[in-house]
Amino acid sequence: MKALVWFRNDLRVTDNVTLSNALENFTDIYPVYCFDPREFALSNQGFNRTGPYRAKFLLESVATLKNMLMELGSTLIVKMGDPTEVIPALARELKVKTVLASKEAAIEETNIENLLEQKLWGAGIEFELFWQSTLYNLADIPWPIKRLPETFTDFRKQAETESFIRDLMPAVNEVRTFARVDSEEIPTLEDLGLNMPETDSRVVLDFQGGEKAALERLKNYLWETKLLSKYKETRNGLIGANYSSKLSPWLALGCISPRTIYYEVKKYEAEIIKNSSTYWLIFELIWRDYFRFIAKKHGAKLFRVNGIREREIEFNEDKDAFKKWSEGKTSQPFVNANMMELNSTGFMSNRGRQIVASFLAHDLKVKWTWGAAYFESLLIDYDPASNWGNWNYMAGVGNDPRKDRYFNVESQAAKYDPKNEYINLWNESVG
Ligand SMILES: Cc1cc2nc3c(=O)[nH]c(=O)nc-3n(C[C@H](O)[C@H](O)[C@H](O)COP(=O)(O)OP(=O)(O)OC[C@H]3O[C@@H](n4cnc5c(N)ncnc54)[C@H](O)[C@@H]3O)c2cc1C
Repeated sequence: MKALVWFRNDLRVTDNVTLSNALENFTDIYPVYCFDPREFALSNQGFNRTGPYRAKFLLESVATLKNMLMELGSTLIVKMGDPTEVIPALARELKVKTVLASKEAAIEETNIENLLEQKLWGAGIEFELFWQSTLYNLADIPWPIKRLPETFTDFRKQAETESFIRDLMPAVNEVRTFARVDSEEIPTLEDLGLNMPETDSRVVLDFQGGEKAALERLKNYLWETKLLSKYKETRNGLIGANYSSKLSPWLALGCISPRTIYYEVKKYEAEIIKNSSTYWLIFELIWRDYFRFIAKKHGAKLFRVNGIREREIEFNEDKDAFKKWSEGKTSQPFVNANMMELNSTGFMSNRGRQIVASFLAHDLKVKWTWGAAYFESLLIDYDPASNWGNWNYMAGVGNDPRKDRYFNVESQAAKYDPKNEYINLWNESVG
């Protein structure tokens, strides 16, 4: 029996529930990846929705997946176009019985799923979706999504006591694909209308897309350097590869599953050390889960200026102030340094993201949605739920028990960059 496996933000072979289900129930598997031109279009604010840093990482991730599938005896069919057109056409051409894919959380992606389902069902083809992007499965959390707690602490405490984390999928040794199918080449950045800026030597890590690099980074952060043992003390850092895991770009595209990280941390706790740092990495992964469930619960509200709490706060549309913020030319050197890092590398620390977001929304009072769209374009680790969820939170329209999460830039700079090392780093003119 034939099945088509549509890869989305699950660009991996290891612990991929969708792929494993296909292997268990079908004998002839056709993996496909579809580049949707809408994801490379301009946003309402005029930025590339996917800028060059993330696009490069995506292209590398798709290429790695293709190589890994070929090593397993299969291939990856690459297509360019709207998946709600491309997938049904391919499914009909291959005469498959079923299309399998991973379920997403945010509204745009779920709208695509719904439309695709209608089209496939209309053509007599089954469509099976698997939830797998979180640590706790949607089916195992102790609330229906409409009753998800509105604060993270309530969510975490109850999830930790009343839910559980499912086991990893068995290792994949073979993917059987019988017929050869025409595929387009993986596009280049130029094909996508993008140019890669020159590499900046100050980048925190040489991020390479794909499952192999994700597993390497995990191995390095845990076993080779044992940096995990002091994560809780270092995680507010600003400079270099070591202050945090830097796993976010791979998590965003699903090059690694959060469960793989979880079970590796458990192994580390059993063999090396179990302390508040080892727990804290899991704690942060639970934050990531929470934003995904919030995105599912609140749909389009997550992307609106009044946010998930539908709070009417006055924001202005000062284009000049926004431009200065985005270019790192504000009155605040610490904000500027962070924006320069983002613009030059596609990455910014969590502390930096909180401060620049707070500065835009609370000090400049500029529409926070512009900032979120700017992050969407630039961040190598952009994911809709984490980005828009964190921006809601920072702008005071999200699920924060404190009314306004205001960060005083000067006191934050004094606390986290007391010797101006970070500011100085980004004020040097390094190529
Ligand atoms: C305004 C703003 C926008 C953000 N946009 C994104 C985004 O688009 N994509 C993204 O992955 N993260 C986003 N974050 C969350 C966080 O800043 C990054 O996940 C983190 O900096 C990535 O670095 P790391 O992998 O070294 O994280 P670590 O500190 O090593 O944490 C491990 C993992 O936990 C998860 N995590 C950590 N903090 C958060 C958080 N606050 N919310 C959700 N997940 C978290 C990430 O998957 C991260 O890789 C945003 C935060 C803010 C304040």
